[in-house]
Amino acid sequence: MTRIAVVGAGFSGAVIAHELAADGFEVEVFEARDHPAGNCHTERDADTGILLHRYGPHIFHTSNERVWNYVRRFDEFMPFTNRVKAVVRGRVYSMPVNLHTINQFFGQAFSPAEARAFLEARADLSIAEPRTFEEQALRFMGRELYEAFFRGYTQKQWGMAPSELPASILRRLPLRFNYDDNYYASTWQGMPRHGYTHIIEQLLDRPGIRVHLATAFDRAMAGDYARVFYSGPIDAWFGHAEGRLGYRTLDFAGERHDGDFQGNAVINYCDPEVPWTRIAEHKHFAPWETHEASWIFRETSRLCEPGDTPYYPIRLAQEKGQLARYIELAREEKQVSFVGRLGTYRYLDMHVTIAEALAWADRWRADGMDQLPVFNVNPLA
Ligand code: UDP
Repeated sequence: MTRIAVVGAGFSGAVIAHELAADGFEVEVFEARDHPAGNCHTERDADTGILLHRYGPHIFHTSNERVWNYVRRFDEFMPFTNRVKAVVRGRVYSMPVNLHTINQFFGQAFSPAEARAFLEARADLSIAEPRTFEEQALRFMGRELYEAFFRGYTQKQWGMAPSELPASILRRLPLRFNYDDNYYASTWQGMPRHGYTHIIEQLLDRPGIRVHLATAFDRAMAGDYARVFYSGPIDAWFGHAEGRLGYRTLDFAGERHDGDFQGNAVINYCDPEVPWTRIAEHKHFAPWETHEASWIFRETSRLCEPGDTPYYPIRLAQEKGQLARYIELAREEKQVSFVGRLGTYRYLDMHVTIAEALAWADRWRADGMDQLPVFNVNPLA
């Protein structure tokens, strides 16, 4: 039997391990933390029974039918639609920006066509091809909405001005001229009844897979395996030889309350004077459950230091230069494939991670394990 090592037990590692075992490989999974599931780890609070998203809110959504069918083999997905509210200068608005937000903010009762014309008159049409976050916002929604909903929040989230950030970050969010307040534009959305950690455990609970928790993988062990799928940080694999890749990390300040604290799962705080970016009330991520008590978490963002948990890759020009050098180093590796958010240093949603893990399985089935590349996507794209 061919032995394969999988480093990291998040969605990338767990899906790859599961598919490897299905094909008869002997798989060892090495996870540095003492629990599986990476940053989507969920755990029931012993006291209240509330399912907590230990590393912040994770809401499953996808338009990829293969991914949707795949995840539902490992848990029941319960109906959940993320409807975010945003607090700006003491008022509550609908998010993402939709016809309701526009009408609330400007005190109007516009029709879709009227709202479109109104915003077009405020948009900076001199920006032909928006490159920065700020240009993208000014081009499509104008200065007032940008300054109210995006400038302060983004400064807090990324620690820099939106004029320094790429337009792609804002393009994650829709701007709608109807009353659709679903945060995501995906075809399917839902929450796993038993949480994400349950799904990951189901994926890994299979003959042929051995899981080592609280066990770091040493690069010197790579020779013991026919291949290593590495979902840890790419810079760590090379001992940070080209410097540390920049990430944002998050801190969560938890508080226990009785009853309903905020009446919604997620409320964003867009004003720059409010230190947190959002408050998540975790029992509302499981609306099919009933809990009298409540846990809320105020979320703040800062630069990731050594020892912190990396969340969002920063990916500005400097980091992309570093990443290009790590890609060069990686191309020298003969038996290692770099996978997932940390392995390829990209801002990935869970569904993309799963789709890419399944694409790895397609690849070894088509070309053979010996023929696998170091990357299955271009991390710089
Ligand atoms: N954003 C904002 N105000 C909001 C929500 C989002 O300025 O109320 C910006 C912020 O820069 C964020 C980006 O839009 O990083 C993308 O938002 P998304 O909800 O996708 O961020 P995530 O859920 O990944 O933190």
